[in-house]
Amino acid sequence: MGDLATLLRQALDEVTASTTLAALDEVRVRWLGKKGAFTEQLKALGALPAADRPAVGARINEAKQQFEAAVESTREALAGAAVEAELAAGRIDVSLPGRGEARGGIHPVTRARLRIERIFRDSGFEVATGPEIEDDFHNFEALNIPADHPARAMHDTFYFPDGRLLRTHTSPVQIRELRKGRLPLAMIMPGRVYRVDYDMTHSPMFHQVEGLVVDEGVNFANLKAVLQGFLRAFFEKDLRMRLRPSYFPFTEPSAEVDMSCVFCDGAGCRVCKHTGWLEIAGCGMVHPNVFAAAGVDAQRWTGYAFGMGIERLAMLRYGVSDLRLFYESDLRFLRQFGAA
Ligand SMILES: [Zn+2]
Repeated sequence: MGDLATLLRQALDEVTASTTLAALDEVRVRWLGKKGAFTEQLKALGALPAADRPAVGARINEAKQQFEAAVESTREALAGAAVEAELAAGRIDVSLPGRGEARGGIHPVTRARLRIERIFRDSGFEVATGPEIEDDFHNFEALNIPADHPARAMHDTFYFPDGRLLRTHTSPVQIRELRKGRLPLAMIMPGRVYRVDYDMTHSPMFHQVEGLVVDEGVNFANLKAVLQGFLRAFFEKDLRMRLRPSYFPFTEPSAEVDMSCVFCDGAGCRVCKHTGWLEIAGCGMVHPNVFAAAGVDAQRWTGYAFGMGIERLAMLRYGVSDLRLFYESDLRFLRQFGAA
C-alpha cells in the first residue's frame, strides 16, 4: 500500500492537466472505472490480514474521495469557462458601425429608356406599349408591308407555328394606338423587339423606341425640330443633325437621321468611321396606306413617325463598344453604371 500516495498524486496531476470536460471524464473513468487503479486497490484488500483491512480500506476510500472532489471542482471550473467562452463569442457590440447595404443599379438599357421617356414626357408626349407577340396584320400588313413585299426579307422574323410572330419592330403599337381613334396624338412607344440576328452590333432581342405625332397640319419641319431637340437633350450636347432621303414602307417621304459624332464633335474618329456623323434614327411622314389600314382620315390628319434603337443610344451615351455587354450580366460591367 506504500504506493497509494504516489498513485493519488499521479491521479490529481491528470485531473489538473485536463483542459476539456471530455478529457476530464476520460481521466475519471480511467481511475475509478471497473479496471481503474483505485478499484484494483480495493480488490487487493481481500489478500490482506483481516486486522489490517479496516485501516487500509479507510485510506483507499479517503484517496478516492480526494480524487472525486478534485474531479468535481475541475468540472465546475471547465464548465464555467465553456459558458464564458460561448458568451464572449456571441457578444454583440452594439456600438459598432453597421455593415451597410449594397445598392443595386438600373440596367444601362433601362436607364437609357427611362431617360428617353422623361425627355419626351417633358415635351408633352405620352408613353404607350403593346404586345410582343403580334399578328401579321399589325406587324406587317397594316404598315404597308404586304405578303410579297421585299422589306419582309430584311426583318428575319421569329414565327410561331400558328402564324403569329415576335414583333420585329415597335411600329405595330402605332397601328394599335391609331385604331383607338383618339386624335390628335403625340406618343412614344418603347419596347423589346426580336430578329434572327446575333453579332457585335446585333442581338436577337433588342429595344426600339418609336415616336408618332398625328395632328392637323403636321409637317416634316416639326419632325426635324422634335428629333433635334430630343438628341440634344439626350446627349446634353449642341449636336448638329442631318436628314438623308431613304425608304421605309410605312412612311413617305422617308429619311435617315444622322447626328454629329458625340465623340469627336464632327472632326472624325474611329467610332464615326472618320465621317463625323453617326446614324441614329429613321423617320418620315406617315404613309396614307398606313392611315387607311388604321382607319384615320388622311384628308384631315397628317403625321410623322420616327424610330431609334435604345441600345444604340445607350452605347453612344455611355461609350459602350460591344452590344453584347448589355446581355452578358457581367457585374463588373453593370456596376460601372451604379445606382440610378
Ligand atoms: Zn467621331
